[in-house]
Amino acid sequence: MSDTVFHKIIRREIPADIVFEDEHLIAFRDISPQAPVHVLFVPKQTVATLNDLEPSQAETVGRLVTAAAAYAKREGFADDGYRVVMNCNGNGGQTVFQIHLHLLAGAPLGGFGT
Ligand code: 5GP
Repeated sequence: MSDTVFHKIIRREIPADIVFEDEHLIAFRDISPQAPVHVLFVPKQTVATLNDLEPSQAETVGRLVTAAAAYAKREGFADDGYRVVMNCNGNGGQTVFQIHLHLLAGAPLGGFGT
């Protein structure tokens, strides 16, 4: 059974600046923001990495993406633009092994990989 810092945030065992939550997912500000807006969208269902996602769980990721887009619209930066990223394992830069979508916004983010 995987238990990460994000599971602890979901269970309210450690604090986080939560910006959205529903029955399926939680969204909170990254503790070490890489852009003026940096929010993490995390499913409540445990999935360690993208490699562990079953085809039947596609909706789990779909909900993260749609929640991120809805947040961008609500917060008024959708038209300016934003970036969503999901890291997988070592070369992808994943450090917390519960899948999560990064939403980065609030400034020009440069070219891919910069
Ligand atoms: P990864 O590198 O796995 O794609 O992203 C993990 C992200 O989680 C990092 O951007 C990191 O700053 C963030 N993070 C790690 N621990 C905590 C924490 O305790 N609280 C919050 N809000 N973010 C965290």
